[in-house]
Amino acid sequence: MPPDSLSFSAPRPPSLLSPLPSPSYPIVDRLVAGRSGESRLSDSLETAFAKGHGRCCAFVESSEDGPAAAAQQGRMETIDEKSWRRINFSTNLSCDDCGLDYPAPEPKLFSFNSPLGACTECEGFGNIVDLDMELIVPDPGKSLRDGAIAPWNTPAYAHELKKLLSIARKIDLPIDVPFRDLTESQRALIVHGAPDHDFGGLGGFFAWLERRKYKMHVRVFLSRWRSYRPCPACGGARLRPEALAVRIGGRNLGEICAMKVRDAAAMFRDLELSEYERQVGRMMLDQVGARLAYLEAVGLGYLTLDRTLRTLSGGEARRVSLTSALGSSLVNMLYVLDEPSIGLHPRDIRQLLDAVKQLRDRGNTVVVVEHEEAIIRAADQVVEIGPGAGQRGGKIVFQGAPGEMQKSSDSLTGDYLAGRRGFGPNGRRREPNHGWIRLAGARGNNLHNVTVEFPLGVLCLVTGVSGSGKSTLVQDTLYPALCRRLRKDAPKPYPFDDVFGDGQLDDVIMIDQSP
Ligand SMILES: [Zn+2]
Ligand SMILES: [Zn+2]
Repeated sequence: MPPDSLSFSAPRPPSLLSPLPSPSYPIVDRLVAGRSGESRLSDSLETAFAKGHGRCCAFVESSEDGPAAAAQQGRMETIDEKSWRRINFSTNLSCDDCGLDYPAPEPKLFSFNSPLGACTECEGFGNIVDLDMELIVPDPGKSLRDGAIAPWNTPAYAHELKKLLSIARKIDLPIDVPFRDLTESQRALIVHGAPDHDFGGLGGFFAWLERRKYKMHVRVFLSRWRSYRPCPACGGARLRPEALAVRIGGRNLGEICAMKVRDAAAMFRDLELSEYERQVGRMMLDQVGARLAYLEAVGLGYLTLDRTLRTLSGGEARRVSLTSALGSSLVNMLYVLDEPSIGLHPRDIRQLLDAVKQLRDRGNTVVVVEHEEAIIRAADQVVEIGPGAGQRGGKIVFQGAPGEMQKSSDSLTGDYLAGRRGFGPNGRRREPNHGWIRLAGARGNNLHNVTVEFPLGVLCLVTGVSGSGKSTLVQDTLYPALCRRLRKDAPKPYPFDDVFGDGQLDDVIMIDQSP
Protein backbone atom coordinates (compact mmCIF):
# COMPACT_ATOMS: atom_id res chain seq x y z
CA MET A 1 0.00 0.00 0.00
CA PRO A 2 1.41 3.42 -0.87
CA PRO A 3 1.75 5.58 2.23
CA ASP A 4 -0.77 8.39 2.37
CA SER A 5 0.35 11.53 4.05
CA LEU A 6 -1.68 12.57 7.04
CA SER A 7 -2.15 15.72 8.98
CA PHE A 8 -4.02 16.01 12.22
CA SER A 9 -6.09 18.97 13.17
CA ALA A 10 -8.36 19.90 16.02
CA PRO A 11 -11.66 21.51 15.07
CA ARG A 12 -12.11 24.84 16.83
CA PRO A 13 -15.05 24.58 19.25
CA PRO A 14 -17.96 26.70 18.01
CA SER A 15 -18.24 30.00 19.80
CA LEU A 16 -21.22 32.34 20.06
CA LEU A 17 -19.04 35.43 19.78
CA SER A 18 -17.44 34.57 16.50
CA PRO A 19 -19.75 32.49 14.36
CA LEU A 20 -17.63 30.84 11.72
CA PRO A 21 -19.03 30.78 8.21
CA SER A 22 -16.98 27.71 7.38
CA PRO A 23 -15.02 25.55 9.80
CA SER A 24 -11.34 26.21 10.24
CA TYR A 25 -8.91 23.57 11.36
CA PRO A 26 -5.80 24.39 13.38
CA ILE A 27 -3.08 21.99 12.26
CA VAL A 28 -1.41 20.00 15.02
CA ASP A 29 1.02 17.94 13.00
CA ARG A 30 1.89 16.73 9.55
CA LEU A 31 2.93 13.12 9.23
CA VAL A 32 3.92 10.70 6.54
CA ALA A 33 2.16 7.40 7.11
CA GLY A 34 4.54 4.60 8.00
CA ARG A 35 7.52 6.93 8.42
CA SER A 36 6.79 9.09 11.46
CA GLY A 37 7.00 6.64 14.35
CA GLU A 38 4.34 5.62 16.80
CA SER A 39 5.24 7.87 19.72
CA ARG A 40 5.06 11.03 17.63
CA LEU A 41 1.72 9.87 16.23
CA SER A 42 0.23 9.25 19.67
CA ASP A 43 1.64 12.54 21.06
CA SER A 44 0.05 14.47 18.22
CA LEU A 45 -3.25 12.65 18.57
CA GLU A 46 -3.30 13.37 22.29
CA THR A 47 -2.76 17.07 21.66
CA ALA A 48 -5.41 17.16 18.94
CA PHE A 49 -8.01 15.41 21.11
CA ALA A 50 -7.21 17.65 24.08
CA LYS A 51 -7.48 20.89 22.07
CA GLY A 52 -10.49 19.64 20.14
CA HIS A 53 -12.56 18.66 23.20
CA GLY A 54 -12.42 14.98 22.37
CA ARG A 55 -12.66 15.41 18.62
CA CYS A 56 -10.06 15.54 15.91
CA CYS A 57 -9.88 15.19 12.17
CA ALA A 58 -7.29 13.55 10.00
CA PHE A 59 -6.81 15.06 6.57
CA VAL A 60 -5.44 12.50 4.20
CA GLU A 61 -3.86 13.77 1.04
CA SER A 62 -6.15 12.26 -1.48
CA SER A 63 -4.81 9.49 -3.57
CA GLU A 64 -7.51 7.50 -5.29
CA ASP A 65 -5.93 4.13 -4.51
CA GLY A 66 -4.82 4.82 -0.92
CA PRO A 67 -6.12 2.75 2.00
CA ALA A 68 -8.52 5.52 3.10
CA ALA A 69 -10.07 5.66 -0.35
CA ALA A 70 -10.38 1.89 -0.42
CA ALA A 71 -12.21 1.93 2.91
CA GLN A 72 -14.50 4.72 1.65
CA GLN A 73 -13.81 6.55 4.88
CA GLY A 74 -14.42 10.23 5.47
CA ARG A 75 -15.49 13.02 3.13
CA MET A 76 -13.69 14.76 0.32
CA GLU A 77 -12.83 18.39 0.96
CA THR A 78 -10.95 20.94 -1.08
CA ILE A 79 -8.57 23.22 0.80
CA ASP A 80 -6.35 25.66 -1.11
CA GLU A 81 -7.23 23.92 -4.36
CA LYS A 82 -5.96 20.62 -3.09
CA SER A 83 -8.35 17.78 -2.36
CA TRP A 84 -8.24 16.03 0.98
CA ARG A 85 -10.13 13.21 2.55
CA ARG A 86 -11.35 14.29 6.00
CA ILE A 87 -11.88 11.49 8.55
CA ASN A 88 -13.44 12.38 11.89
CA PHE A 89 -12.39 10.79 15.15
CA SER A 90 -13.91 11.20 18.57
CA THR A 91 -13.07 10.00 22.05
CA ASN A 92 -16.73 10.46 22.98
CA LEU A 93 -19.23 7.67 22.32
CA SER A 94 -20.71 9.43 19.34
CA CYS A 95 -20.54 9.26 15.60
CA ASP A 96 -19.73 12.57 13.93
CA ASP A 97 -20.77 11.28 10.56
CA CYS A 98 -24.35 10.48 11.49
CA GLY A 99 -24.59 12.64 14.61
CA LEU A 100 -25.60 9.82 16.97
CA ASP A 101 -24.66 9.99 20.64
CA TYR A 102 -24.30 6.86 22.69
CA PRO A 103 -24.62 6.78 26.47
CA ALA A 104 -21.60 5.51 28.38
CA PRO A 105 -22.20 1.78 28.91
CA GLU A 106 -23.32 0.95 32.43
CA PRO A 107 -25.08 -2.15 33.78
CA LYS A 108 -28.58 -0.62 33.53
CA LEU A 109 -28.16 -0.03 29.80
CA PHE A 110 -28.04 -3.80 29.33
CA SER A 111 -31.12 -4.61 31.39
CA PHE A 112 -34.54 -4.79 29.75
CA ASN A 113 -35.98 -4.29 33.23
CA SER A 114 -34.55 -0.79 33.33
CA PRO A 115 -36.07 2.10 31.36
CA LEU A 116 -32.49 2.94 30.42
CA GLY A 117 -32.04 -0.34 28.58
CA ALA A 118 -35.53 -1.46 27.56
CA CYS A 119 -36.65 -1.20 23.94
CA THR A 120 -39.08 1.73 23.85
CA GLU A 121 -41.42 0.06 21.36
CA CYS A 122 -42.20 -3.08 23.39
CA GLU A 123 -41.07 -1.69 26.77
CA GLY A 124 -38.63 -4.56 27.12
CA PHE A 125 -41.12 -7.40 26.68
CA GLY A 126 -39.73 -8.42 23.30
CA ASN A 127 -43.27 -9.07 22.08
CA ILE A 128 -46.15 -6.87 21.11
CA VAL A 129 -49.80 -7.83 21.19
CA ASP A 130 -51.59 -7.66 17.90
CA LEU A 131 -54.78 -8.83 16.22
CA ASP A 132 -54.21 -12.31 14.81
CA MET A 133 -56.05 -13.11 11.57
CA GLU A 134 -55.56 -16.82 12.22
CA LEU A 135 -57.65 -16.46 15.36
CA ILE A 136 -60.19 -14.12 13.78
CA VAL A 137 -60.69 -16.48 10.82
CA PRO A 138 -60.04 -19.91 12.38
CA ASP A 139 -61.52 -21.78 9.41
CA PRO A 140 -60.62 -20.11 6.09
CA GLY A 141 -62.67 -22.79 4.33
CA LYS A 142 -65.83 -20.98 5.44
CA SER A 143 -67.39 -18.18 3.41
CA LEU A 144 -68.29 -14.79 4.84
CA ARG A 145 -71.99 -15.72 4.84
CA ASP A 146 -71.22 -18.95 6.73
CA GLY A 147 -69.45 -16.98 9.46
CA ALA A 148 -65.76 -17.08 8.52
CA ILE A 149 -65.19 -14.07 10.78
CA ALA A 150 -65.48 -15.66 14.20
CA PRO A 151 -65.89 -12.53 16.40
CA TRP A 152 -68.97 -11.56 14.38
CA ASN A 153 -70.65 -14.89 15.10
CA THR A 154 -71.22 -13.71 18.67
CA PRO A 155 -74.87 -12.59 18.97
CA ALA A 156 -73.82 -9.25 20.50
CA TYR A 157 -71.78 -8.32 17.42
CA ALA A 158 -73.77 -10.10 14.69
CA HIS A 159 -74.90 -6.69 13.42
CA GLU A 160 -71.39 -6.17 11.98
CA LEU A 161 -71.77 -9.26 9.80
CA LYS A 162 -75.28 -8.21 8.81
CA LYS A 163 -73.96 -4.81 7.73
CA LEU A 164 -71.14 -6.42 5.72
CA LEU A 165 -73.53 -8.79 3.94
CA SER A 166 -75.91 -5.95 3.13
CA ILE A 167 -73.25 -3.84 1.38
CA ALA A 168 -71.26 -6.74 -0.10
CA ARG A 169 -72.78 -6.42 -3.57
CA LYS A 170 -72.15 -2.65 -3.67
CA ILE A 171 -68.48 -2.98 -2.73
CA ASP A 172 -68.03 -6.01 -4.98
CA LEU A 173 -67.20 -8.49 -2.22
CA PRO A 174 -68.08 -12.17 -2.83
CA ILE A 175 -69.76 -13.62 0.25
CA ASP A 176 -70.24 -17.22 -0.84
CA VAL A 177 -66.66 -18.23 -1.64
CA PRO A 178 -64.29 -19.66 1.00
CA PHE A 179 -62.41 -16.90 2.84
CA ARG A 180 -59.08 -18.31 1.68
CA ASP A 181 -60.07 -17.62 -1.95
CA LEU A 182 -60.61 -13.88 -1.38
CA THR A 183 -58.04 -11.62 -3.01
CA GLU A 184 -55.66 -9.39 -1.11
CA SER A 185 -57.75 -6.28 -1.89
CA GLN A 186 -61.01 -7.98 -0.89
CA ARG A 187 -59.47 -8.90 2.46
CA ALA A 188 -58.27 -5.32 2.83
CA LEU A 189 -61.91 -4.20 2.46
CA ILE A 190 -62.90 -6.45 5.35
CA VAL A 191 -60.04 -5.19 7.51
CA HIS A 192 -60.15 -1.47 6.69
CA GLY A 193 -63.86 -1.15 5.94
CA ALA A 194 -65.76 0.97 3.42
CA PRO A 195 -66.27 4.45 4.92
CA ASP A 196 -68.61 5.48 2.04
CA HIS A 197 -70.99 2.75 3.12
CA ASP A 198 -70.70 3.37 6.85
CA PHE A 199 -68.81 0.11 7.38
CA GLY A 200 -65.78 0.28 9.69
CA GLY A 201 -64.40 -3.18 8.96
CA LEU A 202 -62.46 -5.23 11.49
CA GLY A 203 -60.21 -2.24 12.18
CA GLY A 204 -63.13 0.01 13.09
CA PHE A 205 -64.80 -2.77 15.06
CA PHE A 206 -61.75 -3.47 17.24
CA ALA A 207 -61.02 0.25 17.68
CA TRP A 208 -64.60 0.66 18.94
CA LEU A 209 -64.12 -2.25 21.38
CA GLU A 210 -60.80 -0.75 22.46
CA ARG A 211 -62.68 2.34 23.69
CA ARG A 212 -65.00 0.15 25.78
CA LYS A 213 -62.17 -1.83 27.36
CA TYR A 214 -63.12 -0.60 30.83
CA LYS A 215 -65.73 -3.36 30.76
CA MET A 216 -64.33 -6.68 31.87
CA HIS A 217 -66.18 -8.79 29.30
CA VAL A 218 -64.94 -6.57 26.47
CA ARG A 219 -61.34 -7.03 27.64
CA VAL A 220 -61.83 -10.80 27.71
CA PHE A 221 -63.47 -10.74 24.28
CA LEU A 222 -60.61 -8.66 22.81
CA SER A 223 -57.95 -10.97 24.18
CA ARG A 224 -59.45 -13.91 22.29
CA TRP A 225 -58.46 -12.42 18.92
CA ARG A 226 -54.97 -11.30 19.77
CA SER A 227 -51.65 -13.00 19.93
CA TYR A 228 -48.09 -12.04 20.62
CA ARG A 229 -45.55 -11.49 17.91
CA PRO A 230 -41.90 -10.43 18.09
CA CYS A 231 -41.40 -6.67 18.49
CA PRO A 232 -40.52 -5.17 15.08
CA ALA A 233 -38.17 -2.58 16.65
CA CYS A 234 -35.83 -4.88 18.58
CA GLY A 235 -36.69 -8.19 16.90
CA GLY A 236 -37.39 -9.71 20.31
CA ALA A 237 -34.01 -8.71 21.75
CA ARG A 238 -35.86 -6.50 24.30
CA LEU A 239 -33.12 -3.84 24.37
CA ARG A 240 -32.88 -0.36 22.86
CA PRO A 241 -30.62 0.23 19.83
CA GLU A 242 -27.95 1.99 21.93
CA ALA A 243 -27.54 -1.18 24.03
CA LEU A 244 -27.56 -3.43 20.97
CA ALA A 245 -24.83 -1.30 19.38
CA VAL A 246 -22.39 -2.63 22.00
CA ARG A 247 -20.77 -5.82 20.79
CA ILE A 248 -18.44 -8.42 22.20
CA GLY A 249 -16.83 -10.91 19.87
CA GLY A 250 -18.91 -9.33 17.09
CA ARG A 251 -22.21 -10.09 18.82
CA ASN A 252 -24.60 -7.87 20.74
CA LEU A 253 -26.33 -8.93 23.94
CA GLY A 254 -29.53 -9.87 22.11
CA GLU A 255 -27.63 -12.19 19.80
CA ILE A 256 -25.70 -13.74 22.68
CA CYS A 257 -28.92 -14.36 24.61
CA ALA A 258 -30.37 -16.17 21.60
CA MET A 259 -27.47 -18.64 21.74
CA LYS A 260 -27.56 -22.03 23.40
CA VAL A 261 -25.71 -22.22 26.73
CA ARG A 262 -23.08 -24.52 25.26
CA ASP A 263 -22.48 -22.30 22.21
CA ALA A 264 -22.23 -19.18 24.37
CA ALA A 265 -19.77 -20.98 26.67
CA ALA A 266 -17.63 -21.88 23.64
CA MET A 267 -17.83 -18.32 22.32
CA PHE A 268 -16.56 -16.81 25.58
CA ARG A 269 -13.84 -19.48 25.82
CA ASP A 270 -12.57 -18.71 22.32
CA LEU A 271 -12.93 -14.93 22.55
CA GLU A 272 -9.95 -13.21 20.95
CA LEU A 273 -8.86 -10.40 23.24
CA SER A 274 -5.79 -8.27 23.61
CA GLU A 275 -3.76 -8.61 26.79
CA TYR A 276 -5.21 -5.29 27.98
CA GLU A 277 -8.82 -6.30 27.26
CA ARG A 278 -8.32 -9.61 29.01
CA GLN A 279 -7.01 -7.85 32.12
CA VAL A 280 -9.83 -5.32 32.26
CA GLY A 281 -12.53 -7.93 31.68
CA ARG A 282 -11.05 -10.75 33.73
CA MET A 283 -13.54 -10.63 36.61
CA MET A 284 -16.57 -10.51 34.34
CA LEU A 285 -15.25 -13.15 31.97
CA ASP A 286 -14.54 -15.48 34.90
CA GLN A 287 -18.04 -15.05 36.27
CA VAL A 288 -19.78 -15.46 32.93
CA GLY A 289 -17.63 -18.49 32.13
CA ALA A 290 -18.35 -20.12 35.50
CA ARG A 291 -22.11 -19.55 35.25
CA LEU A 292 -22.25 -21.03 31.76
CA ALA A 293 -20.09 -23.98 32.81
CA TYR A 294 -22.47 -24.73 35.71
CA LEU A 295 -25.48 -24.66 33.40
CA GLU A 296 -23.69 -27.10 31.13
CA ALA A 297 -22.72 -29.25 34.10
CA VAL A 298 -26.33 -29.80 35.13
CA GLY A 299 -27.27 -30.84 31.61
CA LEU A 300 -28.86 -27.58 30.44
CA GLY A 301 -26.40 -26.84 27.63
CA TYR A 302 -29.22 -27.06 25.09
CA LEU A 303 -31.24 -24.16 26.56
CA THR A 304 -31.01 -20.75 24.93
CA LEU A 305 -30.13 -18.00 27.39
CA ASP A 306 -33.25 -15.97 26.65
CA ARG A 307 -35.65 -18.66 27.89
CA THR A 308 -37.75 -17.27 30.73
CA LEU A 309 -38.07 -19.30 33.92
CA ARG A 310 -41.79 -19.61 33.22
CA THR A 311 -41.18 -21.62 30.03
CA LEU A 312 -38.87 -24.15 31.69
CA SER A 313 -40.06 -27.54 32.84
CA GLY A 314 -40.10 -28.16 36.60
CA GLY A 315 -36.90 -30.19 36.43
CA GLU A 316 -35.13 -27.60 34.29
CA ALA A 317 -36.11 -24.76 36.63
CA ARG A 318 -34.84 -26.72 39.63
CA ARG A 319 -31.53 -27.34 37.95
CA VAL A 320 -31.20 -23.65 37.04
CA SER A 321 -31.60 -22.75 40.71
CA LEU A 322 -29.04 -25.43 41.51
CA THR A 323 -26.55 -23.55 39.34
CA SER A 324 -27.06 -20.36 41.33
CA ALA A 325 -26.21 -22.37 44.45
CA LEU A 326 -23.14 -23.71 42.67
CA GLY A 327 -22.21 -20.19 41.61
CA SER A 328 -22.22 -18.88 45.16
CA SER A 329 -19.26 -19.48 47.42
CA LEU A 330 -21.35 -20.02 50.55
CA VAL A 331 -20.29 -22.82 52.89
CA ASN A 332 -21.98 -24.61 55.76
CA MET A 333 -25.35 -24.45 54.04
CA LEU A 334 -28.05 -27.09 53.77
CA TYR A 335 -29.49 -27.42 50.29
CA VAL A 336 -32.75 -29.27 49.64
CA LEU A 337 -33.24 -30.61 46.13
CA ASP A 338 -36.61 -32.06 45.24
CA GLU A 339 -36.14 -34.69 42.54
CA PRO A 340 -33.45 -32.87 40.57
CA SER A 341 -33.31 -35.77 38.11
CA ILE A 342 -36.86 -35.16 36.85
CA GLY A 343 -36.71 -34.57 33.13
CA LEU A 344 -33.06 -35.53 33.02
CA HIS A 345 -31.90 -38.28 30.70
CA PRO A 346 -29.78 -41.02 32.38
CA ARG A 347 -26.90 -39.78 30.24
CA ASP A 348 -26.93 -36.42 32.06
CA ILE A 349 -27.25 -37.78 35.60
CA ARG A 350 -23.51 -38.25 35.99
CA GLN A 351 -23.03 -34.49 35.39
CA LEU A 352 -25.76 -33.61 37.86
CA LEU A 353 -24.09 -35.83 40.47
CA ASP A 354 -20.73 -34.16 39.88
CA ALA A 355 -22.35 -30.77 40.45
CA VAL A 356 -24.03 -31.91 43.67
CA LYS A 357 -20.78 -33.44 44.92
CA GLN A 358 -18.98 -30.14 44.25
CA LEU A 359 -21.52 -28.46 46.48
CA ARG A 360 -20.89 -31.04 49.21
CA ASP A 361 -17.11 -30.93 48.88
CA ARG A 362 -17.17 -27.20 49.45
CA GLY A 363 -18.48 -27.86 52.97
CA ASN A 364 -22.25 -27.96 52.52
CA THR A 365 -24.99 -30.48 53.23
CA VAL A 366 -27.22 -31.60 50.40
CA VAL A 367 -30.53 -33.34 51.04
CA VAL A 368 -32.07 -34.84 47.93
CA VAL A 369 -35.54 -36.31 47.52
CA GLU A 370 -35.13 -38.79 44.72
CA HIS A 371 -36.19 -42.13 43.21
CA GLU A 372 -33.46 -42.28 40.61
CA GLU A 373 -31.28 -45.33 41.22
CA ALA A 374 -27.96 -43.81 40.13
CA ILE A 375 -28.43 -40.94 42.57
CA ILE A 376 -29.44 -43.24 45.44
CA ARG A 377 -26.32 -45.31 44.83
CA ALA A 378 -24.13 -42.19 44.85
CA ALA A 379 -25.45 -40.97 48.21
CA ASP A 380 -23.35 -41.04 51.33
CA GLN A 381 -26.38 -41.74 53.45
CA VAL A 382 -29.84 -42.93 52.50
CA VAL A 383 -33.04 -42.48 54.46
CA GLU A 384 -35.97 -44.56 53.30
CA ILE A 385 -39.50 -43.69 54.35
CA GLY A 386 -42.24 -46.26 54.08
CA PRO A 387 -43.14 -48.98 53.99
CA GLY A 388 -46.21 -48.04 51.91
CA ALA A 389 -47.89 -44.89 50.72
CA GLY A 390 -50.30 -42.62 52.61
CA GLN A 391 -51.49 -44.20 55.87
CA ARG A 392 -49.25 -47.19 55.32
CA GLY A 393 -46.17 -44.99 55.15
CA GLY A 394 -44.59 -42.36 57.35
CA LYS A 395 -42.00 -44.57 59.03
CA ILE A 396 -38.26 -44.62 58.61
CA VAL A 397 -37.65 -48.15 57.37
CA PHE A 398 -33.97 -47.76 56.74
CA GLN A 399 -31.09 -45.38 57.27
CA GLY A 400 -27.49 -45.97 56.30
CA ALA A 401 -25.10 -46.22 53.40
CA PRO A 402 -26.48 -47.50 50.09
CA GLY A 403 -24.32 -50.64 50.46
CA GLU A 404 -26.00 -51.55 53.77
CA MET A 405 -29.38 -50.76 52.26
CA GLN A 406 -28.92 -53.57 49.79
CA LYS A 407 -28.46 -56.02 52.67
CA SER A 408 -31.39 -54.73 54.73
CA SER A 409 -34.46 -56.93 54.59
CA ASP A 410 -36.73 -54.02 55.59
CA SER A 411 -35.81 -51.77 52.71
CA LEU A 412 -37.97 -52.07 49.65
CA THR A 413 -35.57 -49.82 47.77
CA GLY A 414 -32.71 -52.10 48.84
CA ASP A 415 -34.56 -55.04 47.30
CA TYR A 416 -34.62 -53.23 43.99
CA LEU A 417 -31.00 -52.12 44.27
CA ALA A 418 -29.96 -55.70 44.98
CA GLY A 419 -32.12 -57.02 42.20
CA ARG A 420 -34.41 -59.03 44.52
CA ARG A 421 -37.33 -57.16 43.04
CA GLY A 422 -37.71 -55.53 39.70
CA PHE A 423 -39.84 -54.96 36.68
CA GLY A 424 -39.80 -58.38 35.06
CA PRO A 425 -40.43 -58.95 31.41
CA ASN A 426 -43.39 -61.16 32.31
CA GLY A 427 -46.03 -58.39 32.54
CA ARG A 428 -48.70 -58.65 29.88
CA ARG A 429 -48.33 -55.98 27.24
CA ARG A 430 -51.26 -54.82 25.17
CA GLU A 431 -50.89 -54.91 21.46
CA PRO A 432 -51.30 -51.52 19.78
CA ASN A 433 -54.24 -52.56 17.64
CA HIS A 434 -56.97 -50.27 18.95
CA GLY A 435 -56.55 -47.51 16.41
CA TRP A 436 -54.23 -44.52 16.12
CA ILE A 437 -54.11 -40.76 16.37
CA ARG A 438 -51.90 -39.36 13.67
CA LEU A 439 -50.31 -35.93 14.17
CA ALA A 440 -48.76 -34.67 10.94
CA GLY A 441 -46.13 -32.02 10.30
CA ALA A 442 -45.50 -30.78 13.87
CA ARG A 443 -43.00 -27.90 13.73
CA GLY A 444 -43.15 -26.14 17.15
CA ASN A 445 -39.86 -25.11 18.82
CA ASN A 446 -37.21 -27.66 17.83
CA LEU A 447 -39.54 -30.23 16.20
CA HIS A 448 -38.34 -31.02 12.69
CA ASN A 449 -41.68 -31.27 10.89
CA VAL A 450 -42.41 -34.64 12.49
CA THR A 451 -45.38 -36.92 11.87
CA VAL A 452 -46.23 -39.21 14.79
CA GLU A 453 -48.78 -41.97 15.28
CA PHE A 454 -49.97 -42.47 18.84
CA PRO A 455 -51.51 -45.94 19.43
CA LEU A 456 -54.85 -45.86 21.27
CA GLY A 457 -55.90 -48.10 24.16
CA VAL A 458 -52.36 -48.65 25.47
CA LEU A 459 -49.94 -47.02 27.88
CA CYS A 460 -47.84 -45.03 25.46
CA LEU A 461 -44.63 -43.52 26.79
CA VAL A 462 -42.90 -40.55 25.21
CA THR A 463 -39.28 -40.42 26.29
CA GLY A 464 -36.04 -38.73 25.25
CA VAL A 465 -33.39 -36.44 26.66
CA SER A 466 -34.54 -33.37 28.51
CA GLY A 467 -35.29 -30.64 26.00
CA SER A 468 -35.68 -33.04 23.08
CA GLY A 469 -39.18 -31.73 22.41
CA LYS A 470 -41.40 -34.12 24.38
CA SER A 471 -43.50 -31.36 25.94
CA THR A 472 -43.66 -29.40 22.71
CA LEU A 473 -45.00 -32.44 20.90
CA VAL A 474 -47.49 -33.67 23.49
CA GLN A 475 -48.48 -30.66 25.63
CA ASP A 476 -48.13 -27.85 23.14
CA THR A 477 -49.20 -29.51 19.90
CA LEU A 478 -51.11 -32.81 20.28
CA TYR A 479 -53.23 -31.76 23.26
CA PRO A 480 -54.41 -28.33 22.03
CA ALA A 481 -54.86 -29.71 18.49
CA LEU A 482 -57.21 -32.40 19.81
CA CYS A 483 -58.98 -29.86 22.05
CA ARG A 484 -59.72 -27.74 19.00
CA ARG A 485 -61.23 -30.71 17.19
CA LEU A 486 -63.28 -31.66 20.24
CA ARG A 487 -64.38 -28.02 20.65
CA LYS A 488 -62.69 -27.60 24.03
CA ASP A 489 -61.00 -24.45 25.22
CA ALA A 490 -57.21 -24.65 24.93
CA PRO A 491 -54.26 -22.46 24.03
CA LYS A 492 -53.32 -22.12 20.38
CA PRO A 493 -51.40 -25.25 19.31
CA TYR A 494 -47.85 -24.96 18.01
CA PRO A 495 -47.67 -25.22 14.21
CA PHE A 496 -48.67 -28.55 12.64
CA ASP A 497 -50.31 -29.67 9.40
CA ASP A 498 -53.16 -31.91 10.47
CA VAL A 499 -54.41 -34.37 13.05
CA PHE A 500 -56.29 -37.53 12.10
CA GLY A 501 -58.31 -40.05 14.09
CA ASP A 502 -59.81 -37.68 16.66
CA GLY A 503 -63.26 -39.15 15.94
CA GLN A 504 -62.28 -42.19 18.04
CA LEU A 505 -61.99 -40.06 21.17
CA ASP A 506 -64.73 -38.72 23.43
CA ASP A 507 -62.55 -36.32 25.38
CA VAL A 508 -58.97 -35.27 26.03
CA ILE A 509 -57.71 -34.31 29.50
CA MET A 510 -54.40 -32.89 30.62
CA ILE A 511 -53.04 -33.95 34.00
CA ASP A 512 -50.01 -31.87 34.80
CA GLN A 513 -48.11 -30.94 37.93
CA SER A 514 -50.18 -27.84 38.65
CA PRO A 515 -52.69 -28.43 41.48
ZN1 LIG B 1 -22.36 6.88 12.19
ZN1 LIG C 1 -38.84 -4.14 21.24
